[in-house]
Amino acid sequence: MNNKSNYNYLLADLTTLKGVGVKTTNLLKKKNINNIFDLLWKLPKSFTDRSLSSKIKDLKIGEVQTITIIPKKYSFPRIRNLPNRVSCCDETGDIDCIFFNSYEGYIKKILPLGKEITISGKIGFFRNKYQLTNPKYVSEDSTLIKQKHSTYSLTEGISEKVYNKIINQIIEKLPLLSEWHSKKILNRFGDISWNNSIKELHKPENVGCFKKNFYQRLAYDEIFSTFLVNSEIRKKIKKIKKDNKILDIKKQNYLIDNLDFSLTEDQKKSLNEINHDLCSSTKMFRLLQGDVGSGKTIVSLIAALNCINSGFQVAVMTPTEILARQHYFLAKKIFPKNLNIELISGKLDYKNKKKIINQLADGKIDIIFGTHAIFQKKVSFKNLGLIVIDEQHKFGVNQRKKLSDKGGDNCDVLLMTATPIPRTLTMTLYGDMDISIIREKPKSRKIIKTYSKLENKIDDVLKFINKEIKKDNQIFWVCPLIEESKKLDHSSAIKKYEFLKKFFPNKVSLLHGKTDIIEKEKILNQFLRKEFKILVSTTIIEVGIDFPNATVIVIENANKFGLSQLHQLRGRVGRGEKESTCILMFKSNLSENAKKRIKILKNSNDGFIISEEDMKIRGFGDILGFKQSGIKNFRLADPIHNSDLFILAENEMRRIENSNEDISKFKPLIKLYDRADVINDLA
Ligand code: ADP
Ligand code: MG
Repeated sequence: MNNKSNYNYLLADLTTLKGVGVKTTNLLKKKNINNIFDLLWKLPKSFTDRSLSSKIKDLKIGEVQTITIIPKKYSFPRIRNLPNRVSCCDETGDIDCIFFNSYEGYIKKILPLGKEITISGKIGFFRNKYQLTNPKYVSEDSTLIKQKHSTYSLTEGISEKVYNKIINQIIEKLPLLSEWHSKKILNRFGDISWNNSIKELHKPENVGCFKKNFYQRLAYDEIFSTFLVNSEIRKKIKKIKKDNKILDIKKQNYLIDNLDFSLTEDQKKSLNEINHDLCSSTKMFRLLQGDVGSGKTIVSLIAALNCINSGFQVAVMTPTEILARQHYFLAKKIFPKNLNIELISGKLDYKNKKKIINQLADGKIDIIFGTHAIFQKKVSFKNLGLIVIDEQHKFGVNQRKKLSDKGGDNCDVLLMTATPIPRTLTMTLYGDMDISIIREKPKSRKIIKTYSKLENKIDDVLKFINKEIKKDNQIFWVCPLIEESKKLDHSSAIKKYEFLKKFFPNKVSLLHGKTDIIEKEKILNQFLRKEFKILVSTTIIEVGIDFPNATVIVIENANKFGLSQLHQLRGRVGRGEKESTCILMFKSNLSENAKKRIKILKNSNDGFIISEEDMKIRGFGDILGFKQSGIKNFRLADPIHNSDLFILAENEMRRIENSNEDISKFKPLIKLYDRADVINDLA
C-alpha cells in the first residue's frame, strides 16, 4: 500500500469493517462518527482486567472475576419469572450461571455440557452457592476472555463487546503512514510514530495517560494540522494581487489632529499595520482585536478614510443597525464634509434604498454603513477597496473566507472583535488572519468598580442608583436570559421593570427578546438621547454601542455567566470620562469557587487575562459560546493542559512559513484531520 491508499483506508466508510452493518453505522453517524478515522478517537474510558483467573473456591463475592468451568446440567423451568440455570463446576467447587431472558438454544450453544469454558463477570452468592448472572464474557477460547477489556462510553444500541471488536479490528489493520514531522519535533515526543501512538492510545491500561509521549504526539498532530490549514488559507489570500492604495498621510493626520483625544500607542501601532497592508500589493485579511472600549472604531474609520482618499469605496458591516447608525454618525462628524457617507437601513423606503444601491454601483458613495444588508446580491460596488466587519467574533474560518472572496481581489478585509481570547487559542481561532491587537485602553478611562450584592440587599442598590440619577447618569439593569427558562426570564425582566418604575417613575424603559426591531431601536436611541435613565433588558445584545453617559450596570443572576461574558457586559459602561460601577447580583451566598471567579473580575479589567482565567475554570468549549458557533473543537488536544503544545505548534508553523518549507509531506495529516476541503488543491 502506498501512502495515499493508506490514509484512504482510514477515511473509508464504516461498513467496510467486518461485522459493521447499516444499523451500527447509522447509530455511529448520529454521534458524528462517519469513517474509520473518526472511530479512532472514541477512546476507552476505563477497562476491566479479566486476565487473571481464579478457582471457584477462591472466588470473591461482588468482584469481577474470570474462571474456567465445565457446564454440568441445564435447568430450564419454563415458568415465567424463573430464570434458566446452568450448574457448572471446576475441581474446587460449584457455580450456577443464571440467565434471564435468554433462549435455551443460545445457552446450550455458549455453555455446552462437558466442555471446558472460560467465563468472566461479577460473582454473586445466592442460597449458599456462587452464581454469575447473565454472563457476557463466555468462550471456549480462554485467551479471548483473559484480557483487559476496554469500557467505552457507549453509543446507545452498540454493546461494549461490539465496540471492542470494531476497535481491535481497526488497530490490527492500522496502516503505516510515512512520518510528517521533522526529526526535531518527533524527538520531542520520544520518536513515537503516529501508528504506534494510536495503538498505545487504545491500550486499556493507558486510559488517562495524557502526559505520555504517544498522547502528546497525537494532540500535537491535531493542533498542528489546524494551524497548518489556517496558515494555508492565510498564504492563499496573501497571494491575491491587488491594486495597492496610496496613503495620503496629510489628510490622515489632519483627521487625527482634530479628534478630541489622542490615539493610544496601540491604536497607532494597529493603524500602521493596517496602512501597511492597504498600501501593499496583496490583499489584506486582518483582525483587529481589542477589549471592549479599547477604541477600535476610530482606527477602522481612519483606515477607511485612507482608502477613500486613494480612490476606493468602503463598506462597514455591523451586527445590528443601531451600531451601524452610531458608526455612521461618527463618520459624519469626523470625515471631511465633501465625502458621500451613507447608511443602508431597514427603515429606508424603496425609493431611497434604490437610490443608494445605484449610487454604490456608480461609485458616488464613498462609504456605506449597514448590517449584512450591504452584502445582498443586488448590491454591487464600483470600486470597493475595504470591508470593515465589526463585532463578528463568532464567524468561523469558512464564513470569513467567503466574505473575503465576496469583495473581489482589490478589496482589503478588516475584522474587528472585542472578544479577547486566551493566547493559546489565537492561532486556532484566527490563524487564517494577520492580527493587530489593542491591549492598552485610553488613558482617560477610569476603572469600573465592581461589587457583588445579594439580591435581598436590593435597597442598597436602589439608593445608589438614585444618587447616580441625580448626577444625571444612566443605568443598565440586566436580567439576563438563561437558556433553560426563556419564559421565566422574560417575565422577570418585565417584573423588574414594573418594580423599578414604582421607585423611578417615568425614568425606566424595557427591552426584552420580544421587543421588535423598530421598537428596540427607538428605545435605544431614546436612551442615547438621555430621555430616560434606566434601561431594563434581558440581555444586552447590542454589542459595541457606545453609551458614554451610562455609568452603572446591574447584572442579576450573575452566577449564571462566565467571566468573559460578565466582562463583556461590564464593558457597556465606563466608556466616557465618568467613573463607572458594575453591580453583580446573586440570589444566594456564593460558593468558594464563585467567590474566586468574582475576585478575578473585580481585580482585573483586562479582557485577555479574564478570558485566560475563564478558560481555566470553564474549559475551552464553553467560553463565549464558541461551542455553538461551529468553531472547531479538538478531539484530544486541550488548550488548557496542552498550552505548551500549542506554543510548540505555533513556533513550528512560523518556522515553516519563514523558511518557505514545502508542506506537501503534511498532506496526509491535513487530509485525515479535517477541513481538507478548504485546501483541497494543496499540492
Ligand atoms: P471598541 O473597541 O469597544 O469598539 P469604541 O471604538 O466604541 O470601542 O470606543 C469606545 C469609546 O472610546 C468611544 O467613545 C471612543 O470615542 C473613545 N476613544 C477611542 N479612542 C480613544 C482614545 N485614544 N482616547 C480617548 N477616548 C477614546
Ligand atoms: Mg466596537
